[in-house]
Amino acid sequence: MHKLSHRERDPNSLQQLLLVCGVVSIFLILSLSWIGIQRAATNSVLIEAEYDSTQIAKLMVAQHYQLLFSDGEQNIAMDNHGLNTFDKTIRDFLHLFGIVKVKVFDLDGVIIYSTDANIIGRRVEDRAGLEKALRGETDSHQMTKEQLIDLYEEQRFDVDVVETYLPVYNTSGEIAGSFEVYLDVTRYRNEISYRVSSSLLLLATILLGVFLLSFWVVSKASKQLKALLTRLEQQATTDTLTGLINRGAVLHRAEEELSRMQRHDLQQKPTHGLGVIMLDIDFFKAVNDTYGHQVGDEVLREMSRRITGCLREYDIFGRYGGEEFLVLIPSCTREEAMLSAERIRGCLAGGPVIIGEYRLEITVSLGVTCCLNPEEGFEAVLSRADHALYEAKHLGRNRMIFFGIQQMQDIDGDGQEVVKPIGDALYGADN
Ligand code: GH3
Ligand code: MG
Ligand code: MG
Repeated sequence: MHKLSHRERDPNSLQQLLLVCGVVSIFLILSLSWIGIQRAATNSVLIEAEYDSTQIAKLMVAQHYQLLFSDGEQNIAMDNHGLNTFDKTIRDFLHLFGIVKVKVFDLDGVIIYSTDANIIGRRVEDRAGLEKALRGETDSHQMTKEQLIDLYEEQRFDVDVVETYLPVYNTSGEIAGSFEVYLDVTRYRNEISYRVSSSLLLLATILLGVFLLSFWVVSKASKQLKALLTRLEQQATTDTLTGLINRGAVLHRAEEELSRMQRHDLQQKPTHGLGVIMLDIDFFKAVNDTYGHQVGDEVLREMSRRITGCLREYDIFGRYGGEEFLVLIPSCTREEAMLSAERIRGCLAGGPVIIGEYRLEITVSLGVTCCLNPEEGFEAVLSRADHALYEAKHLGRNRMIFFGIQQMQDIDGDGQEVVKPIGDALYGADN
């Protein structure tokens, strides 16, 4: 009989597999999504920040246009009074829009105005954004606080920013200088975190929902599968007429017992082994022929019930085929095996089997053996029980005969020796 592996036998392993796969997939999906969402949100928010910064710079230039060209010339220039007024009004904007720094450059890159007054009058070179603005292009990009390159005496800020250089045109439409703002991106960063965490939360909720639903479906299916498997296993190992385990199952149990004996070899007492009783109903064909097949079936059922009733809890009892049965008695001596067989014979001979109006005196013959050495294999043990049964039939039925290895050697020898089975003399009954 094909033996199902533990995994095949247990559909719960499907659930465990799903659980592992689910947890790993959720983890992977969330990690990859986190990277993706983080990138997408950062990009979109930074584009927003750069756009906002440019708009704010444009607004500030428009608001202060008159002050930038206070000398009425076409070049950016401010006298002291103009600078003070410019500085005062510019500062109103700083907190409002989260701006940390403002600078105004003339066409030569000289700082005309800065929120950091120390650096006014200095000339700035090699600043790509500034150069672009002085060529007429707006430049806006994010800079981490580590990337900020400032004039060394300039006040430093401990935040990441978007730096925007805006070209400033004079009334003739010519580039007159550049307006620079540093926009604090903390607010935008918070926006990114919020977008990422809310997206991930939504995704995690959906994934968890889908996972729980599939887990529920699989656990329901695996329960049904388990019930089906149990039913199939039971059907495959049960004899439908008597409800006993069938031939395949009883042989399987015998092999299991021998393996168990092998595993516990050291603990095993040398006198104890697996007792085996092969049992056959006497003249059963005559029962069928006289009373019909159905009565025969009923006799088989009643015999099974009676034998079950006189066995111990750990004894194994199955239908071997036709009207033959097999009893396995774990951990017993030769004598105990014989006593068990005799007890069974006594139980069955105890009273007639009554089926409808019929009272049938049914007897059985029993071939008994005991396997003390599991190495010999169950086939050899079974053959001994079979020979003993044959001998019991031969000696007149309704009796128990024990065959040990010695008796078998007598048979397998040159055939000259007389076989002396045990049991007939000890427990033999009259026919
Ligand atoms: P012996 O004492 O030598 O064992 O004689 P017997 O008549 O019992 O032996 P034999 O092997 O000649 O006949 C066994 C009969 O058992 C033949 C068969 O029809 C019958 N049998 C086998 N299985 C079933 C079954 O499931 N139901 C019924 N009613 N009869 C069965
Ligand atoms: Mg038979
Ligand atoms: Mg028979």
